[in-house]
Amino acid sequence: MEGQTFERVILRRKNLRIPFPDCFVERLTGQQILHVNRRAKYLLIETLDEVLIWHLGMSGQVRIYKIDEQVEPIGKHDHVQFDLSSGATIVFTDPRRFGLMDLTKPKHLADHRLLKDIGPEPLGNTFSGPILAHRLKARRGPIKQVIMDGKVVAGVGNIYASESLYRAGISPKRSAATVQGGRAEKLVNAIQSVLGAAIEAGGSTLKDHRTTDGGLGYFQFSFAVYGRTGQACPDCDCDISLTKGIRHLEQGGRSTYYCPRKQR
Ligand SMILES: [Zn+2]
Repeated sequence: MEGQTFERVILRRKNLRIPFPDCFVERLTGQQILHVNRRAKYLLIETLDEVLIWHLGMSGQVRIYKIDEQVEPIGKHDHVQFDLSSGATIVFTDPRRFGLMDLTKPKHLADHRLLKDIGPEPLGNTFSGPILAHRLKARRGPIKQVIMDGKVVAGVGNIYASESLYRAGISPKRSAATVQGGRAEKLVNAIQSVLGAAIEAGGSTLKDHRTTDGGLGYFQFSFAVYGRTGQACPDCDCDISLTKGIRHLEQGGRSTYYCPRKQR
């Protein structure tokens, strides 16, 4: 998309999870796309005058039809279409309509209501041991639940919280406030390596995930602890007959998995 212009914008509804902003089509048409970025789960399509904030919701899908590729007939859930100056077409399909699109001016982006309270990007350079330690200092809840709070750090979901804590050797039950110094450092490294490996593998969760050319997602990321109750953890030197292997725990209604011996 970068460098292309929105030649034609087609809107087939007034709203998704929230209404489309007034003059959505007029504001985007003719704008050249400078950058395509992401903040937490929001895609940010930046032009000179506007930023398109785009969330796919639970199961929204983006199809990209390259130049000269035949665009499939419009389906009833194809709510938005962008025709770009390159000849490519982008279609947003969102059957459950949990997705959203909003527009803001570039200078107001950081203060936008959807973005302003989001914590640092885990793979960005504003995330570090000292920064995480500072954000955890006043939090008394268990680290597993606190690390999933998007205001602390963006994008550490349920599976990756368990996996990161395992790699860092930190018990999910430990009070978040006590994850300081070297422990916070280890946790940052663990989160970054787990997310890096998961991205490399193409993600791990959604059954209805599709790639932008319509193919199925691929789920190669293998879990160390998640969903492996009673089994040995990787490189395990634990005596399973004593430890009973990986344990399962409910925290805030979500499943946690951990090794009671390696995680303290
Ligand atoms: Zn173990």
